[in-house]
Amino acid sequence: MKISATGRPRIDWQAERERIDLAAVGTRLLGPASGRRGESGRKLWWCCPFHEDRNPSFCIDPGKAWWKCFGCGESGDAASLVMRLESITFPEAVAYLTGGPEATRARGPRKAPVNTPPKPPPEPSGLPEADALALVEDAAARLWTPEGADALAYLTGPERCLSLASIKAARLGWTPRADGVAWKPPGVVIPWYVGPRLALVKVRPPEAWRERFPKERRPPKYLEAFRDPARLVCYPDPATIRPGRPLMVTEGEFDALALGEALGELAAVVTLGSASAEPSPAIIGRFLAANPWFVATDADPAGDKAAAKWDAYPRARRVRPPAPYKDWTEARQAGVNVVRWWRDILNGNPSPELFTDDEAAGWRWGPSVDEESPGIFVVTEARNGRENQ
Ligand SMILES: [Zn+2]
Repeated sequence: MKISATGRPRIDWQAERERIDLAAVGTRLLGPASGRRGESGRKLWWCCPFHEDRNPSFCIDPGKAWWKCFGCGESGDAASLVMRLESITFPEAVAYLTGGPEATRARGPRKAPVNTPPKPPPEPSGLPEADALALVEDAAARLWTPEGADALAYLTGPERCLSLASIKAARLGWTPRADGVAWKPPGVVIPWYVGPRLALVKVRPPEAWRERFPKERRPPKYLEAFRDPARLVCYPDPATIRPGRPLMVTEGEFDALALGEALGELAAVVTLGSASAEPSPAIIGRFLAANPWFVATDADPAGDKAAAKWDAYPRARRVRPPAPYKDWTEARQAGVNVVRWWRDILNGNPSPELFTDDEAAGWRWGPSVDEESPGIFVVTEARNGRENQ
């Protein structure tokens, strides 16, 4: 190391660059590499931080000193990556990478306006991400073996009405025992994605398994195996949302899948996971591309409460189950073809916008919480216990 005219040690970056473990730098800045579909070599892949990237195209070849994005064409070395991601100067970046005098400063939080101290995002919880990914992969494979037959029958049965294609696309799975999750439950594994990365992993144990526990310490209907609050938006993936198209928000994952498949291009269907989930600013931010929003909640006090959370948003419209049914399950059990009902409504609208508020009011939508007239029905987690294997 040389000493510069200012008395600071001078670093020969050309030489240092070859010694830096770029893969480690990438992991530190971008999190664990998520991999890329169809790539199984040693290269590490991330969603590119410099462009909207669904299938990771930001690549680091371990041992090499340069990174490249095959999506937007950006490339550089460790210093340029740190400079851009941390908004710091070249000397600061070099110091960050080599532990030099500027390192402390460079390692601080990203620069932000003085009055808005950056709030660190909540930490991921549950299994380590790699273990959660392994659980999802293992369960997705098991579902299609004899061991997963009961779970598959449940998912394709009259209650859930999921097609094999939907089940595969959603990477639903079956685990005989989710190690590392509270109660180590068996159950259907439900991964939430943001592109190729996991945001949440839930396990839904069979009702018979839950009922073996005394009532006062019975495990919940859904157990969480993994959660990354920084990525969490909606199920199955925020990419489901289509700009300018209607968006339907159901109470549960299985409804979102079944309806989403049935409605195809007519409308995107997502869920926040439960009636009690809050529409956070991050969620609203993603939803704003779509218009209008149909909030399909149950005709019960929980559904009313859930619907009230959307009152602040003019483009949100509550859709009530048609009387006398309280939810999708009841309606389905009564023989109502729920999917056809939705499709009829969506297909019958002559407006290119598909749904305006005026049109919706003229149809069978219930405009308010207190409205008693028919609307739409949806299943709720609170009542899907009776059908399990
Ligand atoms: Zn890129």
